[in-house]
Amino acid sequence: MSVAGLASGGIGARWWGWGDAPDGHVDGRLDEILNLLGAPPRPPPAAGADQLAPPASRLLETARGALLRHAEVDVSALGRSLACFGSAYPDLVRRRRGEASPAPDAIVRPHTADGVIGTLRACADYDLAVVPRGAGTSLVGGADASGIGQRSGLVVIDTTGLRRVLDVDPISRRATVEAGVPGPVLEAAVREHGLSLGHAPGSFERSTVGGWVATGSASADAGGDGSIRQLVTGLRLASPVGMLELHDAPLGGEGPDLTGLVIGSEGTLGVICEVTLRLRRRPGAQAGCGLLFRSFADGLVALRRLAQDGLVPLAARLCDEDETRLWMHAAGAEDAARGARTRLAGRGAPGALLLLADAGSAGTPGRRIEAAVAACAAEAPIELGDEPARRWVALPARDAWLRDALIDAGVLVDTVETAGSWKVLPALREAVVAALVGALGNPALVTSRVAHATPDGASLAVTCFAPAAEGAELERWRAARSAALAAILGQGGQIAHANGIGSHSARWLARARGRTAAGLLRALKSELDPVGMMNPGKLVAEGA
Ligand SMILES: Cc1cc2nc3c(=O)[nH]c(=O)nc-3n(C[C@H](O)[C@H](O)[C@H](O)COP(=O)(O)OP(=O)(O)OC[C@H]3O[C@@H](n4cnc5c(N)ncnc54)[C@H](O)[C@@H]3O)c2cc1C
Repeated sequence: MSVAGLASGGIGARWWGWGDAPDGHVDGRLDEILNLLGAPPRPPPAAGADQLAPPASRLLETARGALLRHAEVDVSALGRSLACFGSAYPDLVRRRRGEASPAPDAIVRPHTADGVIGTLRACADYDLAVVPRGAGTSLVGGADASGIGQRSGLVVIDTTGLRRVLDVDPISRRATVEAGVPGPVLEAAVREHGLSLGHAPGSFERSTVGGWVATGSASADAGGDGSIRQLVTGLRLASPVGMLELHDAPLGGEGPDLTGLVIGSEGTLGVICEVTLRLRRRPGAQAGCGLLFRSFADGLVALRRLAQDGLVPLAARLCDEDETRLWMHAAGAEDAARGARTRLAGRGAPGALLLLADAGSAGTPGRRIEAAVAACAAEAPIELGDEPARRWVALPARDAWLRDALIDAGVLVDTVETAGSWKVLPALREAVVAALVGALGNPALVTSRVAHATPDGASLAVTCFAPAAEGAELERWRAARSAALAAILGQGGQIAHANGIGSHSARWLARARGRTAAGLLRALKSELDPVGMMNPGKLVAEGA
């Protein structure tokens, strides 16, 4: 079933998941995973959106009147139900069950930055907590309507009313856009100038610029760490104490980087209203290659060398052996890749796939890929040609569709993200995989991949698949995630990379960064949000 619009995760989203895959798209990984897990019992079908029954709105008529002076206000049961959760695995489970609590008391949608300021003032006057929300694609509970505490109510500020592209400056290659602009709208506006942002997280079709900045998102094909941080040169943040104007400062240098303090603040300081972003020339050509290494360890050595010698192309993803095996089933395994794997298997090596992709002006990507392939020669990988990389780039939402199908089939599926230096990465991976296997028991499949390779280190994503255990899905998920986070801390990894901290990891932040750092974040918050109304319980747990 499809519910368009407000707070549903975007236009056309399935209300409890990502949406339907394009006609005819069959992901061969589904059967493979179900075979490995022994076909777990299927859960009952998802509740219909018309069955959602959130608790009654507590919003006073006077408060509604005050909000209406600045924004649209939606207190409908459906609107409030759809804004309860984000897009993480536990969110999808709760949505399927028909849960609609805790629900916001209203969804408020301002259309201007002044409207946001007015909305925040009205929320302060009526003792309302505020959760800023873009497209609701958060994977860490960042946009959940939770954290009301002792306040009189909670409203979601839906930023999708802020959707103007304010300026495109082809001379300085900058665009200034409002925060609710989704990826495709931004790209369409700059395309006519021959430019591109070159930042496309997996949720690109739906997620908003404000969401990217608020979470510090990373794009897998943007080169280096892929972070939106490299692209933001200025922004406007509407906070409860007024507008923080961090004007376009391309070279920095005016004291500490205040823009950097807002990036990754996850709605806890205020509502990002406008962002100025660096653009690049729109690429005219693409090239890619798949390389099959004997082992993940070999691939990791090669990837590190590429990153440290400046040879890593815009996108590079190294899959471990189990992920490689699964990947070969994705979207119809290519005969060449199968053949190569068989050859390796004959030598007793399972094979680990490195996907490389690049884009740029004509000729450049091809040369860069050739140089990267040549630099991997010492590990003697088998070249698989450009087909694996082409398939990888062609269907960015592949994993989101697969997740929906797996949940339909009774599978718990979640990805834990971390990052670490090259020195810690091998042990970090082993520890997280072991923690997840230990927490989920048998049968379970745990796969991993390394991406965002920089000279210092790289990101690590570990995905687990296990029977969901109908009725106990959330407890099982929580146990697995806690085990993985403890393993990450134990090995000196980061407790988050691109997706942010949200409510899921908030209580881990103080442990990861120390009490002084957590205190600094609290001090910053109390300056901009003295009554603590902005996204309570996210990023830094209350009382942590
Ligand atoms: C299928 C899928 C693939 C994904 N792939 C990636 C990926 O490749 N890389 C990546 O980094 N993430 C990825 N994500 C996670 C998610 O899409 C990103 O975190 C994204 O940046 C969130 O944008 P959003 O507009 O949906 O924000 P929301 O989910 O609505 O909000 C996320 C957080 O930002 C805050 N926020 C949102 N807008 C504002 C604003 N204007 N002002 C202040 N705070 C705000 C919210 O309060 C919340 O804390 C993926 C998610 C899905 C479902």
